[in-house]
Amino acid sequence: MSMPSLAAGPEGPGALRPLLGTVLDALAAGGRARGGPLPGGGPAAVAARMRAAVGDVLPQEGDPDALRRLVQALAEGAADPADPLCAAHLHCPPLAVATAADLAASALNPSLDSWDQAPSASALEALVTSALAAEVYPRAPAPDCLVTTGGTESNQLALLLAREAHGGRTRLVAGAGAHHSLTRAAWLLGLPEPVVVHGPAGVLDPAALDAALSATPGPLLVAATAGTTDTGRIDPLPEIAGRCRAHGARLHVDAAYGGGLLFSDRYRGRLAGLDAADTVTLDLHKLGWQPVAAGLLAVRDARDLTALHQRADYLNADDDTRAGLPDLLGRSPRTTRRPDVLKIAVTLSTLGRTGLGALVDRVCGLAREFAALIAAHPRFELYGRPAISTVLFRPAGAADDAVAAVRRTLLAGGRAVLGRARPDGRLWLKATLLNPHARPEDLAALLELVEGHTPR
Ligand SMILES: *Cc1c(COP(=O)(O)O)cnc(C)c1O
Repeated sequence: MSMPSLAAGPEGPGALRPLLGTVLDALAAGGRARGGPLPGGGPAAVAARMRAAVGDVLPQEGDPDALRRLVQALAEGAADPADPLCAAHLHCPPLAVATAADLAASALNPSLDSWDQAPSASALEALVTSALAAEVYPRAPAPDCLVTTGGTESNQLALLLAREAHGGRTRLVAGAGAHHSLTRAAWLLGLPEPVVVHGPAGVLDPAALDAALSATPGPLLVAATAGTTDTGRIDPLPEIAGRCRAHGARLHVDAAYGGGLLFSDRYRGRLAGLDAADTVTLDLHKLGWQPVAAGLLAVRDARDLTALHQRADYLNADDDTRAGLPDLLGRSPRTTRRPDVLKIAVTLSTLGRTGLGALVDRVCGLAREFAALIAAHPRFELYGRPAISTVLFRPAGAADDAVAAVRRTLLAGGRAVLGRARPDGRLWLKATLLNPHARPEDLAALLELVEGHTPR
């Protein structure tokens, strides 16, 4: 084999062009071979096909056809979030324009741990994060925003910033519907066992929160959720913020899912009270149609971020910083860091507020239509009116085992990808609608598929 080509440099685009053709053809061929939202046959069959496609993982001599072979195998065995019947998780179909931008990020390979590895990328990140911080905190004098790998990292950072703001200790208080990454972050950060607040209706109940805040010695961090993973419900943020103020507790809002509503004129009001939070988790690889990863942590007061300050002479020497080189090390607990901000910036600029808002409105509208379809169907039960784009339903009168079985049958057959949730002790099927191209008739077909596969 001759010397392999590089993606960066003057020869990079020329070397990439034919390879891109190969990738695109392999994606198309793999998708055709799959022919549905998920590969058929379940985990053993998929693993066997992948084993056959890969062959020797590290052969003595290389194979120039490996790119086509492996991309095609990956596509053939992929769960396709752009298939309307793939609707289990907060797993969005990425926008083509964002994905194309991500290619440029890979080709240029800037690393955001020092200015001399990422001159323009760091300048772009500063512009985009300050605009997004203002989007979350329109009235705060000095908000800021960090780019993260997703909701999990954002939530962990929020707990870390709270712990540091509280002089090295804090206790998490969260609703029963809060994301598991919050309790895990408390464990990672060595914080005391979190207080879980149980309340009716699957949201963080202000009265129950008040009682918990009265009963628990501080300092405390309350984590509310704007769009729970299981049901999409939004906690009553203004009331929660009021209780936090009254008790001197810090407030974090996990808006990994619901944060996307900020882009919509129609739905932004549902996030009223969001800017009362000290920190807000956003996740644009959910209701923002970005390829993974595209997480954000918005911070009301940029001074909180001094806790992340770090000095490493080779990356941000004091004399370099004094001479005007931006100090990037405090913008993340990571060191080497991809410019995930590029695809975000390209998306915001390409679609604008109107274009992004239309996508949000579209999936929320689909959820309402799907819910109406279920409510009108004699053989199905609807959990409740969707708050965002999550719809929970179950075959009427079915036992939990039958609900679990129908989901696995559809998965194994590669027919549909539905999630599951147990918000009230009973098992429900969950459709998380993030595909703006899905049509109401696709959802009718999904319902028919579930009906046809429910054991009785
Ligand atoms: C998805 C999600 C997370 C975790 O985000 P990742 O990007 O998967 O790390 C956290 N909180 C909520 C509410 C979520 O829906």
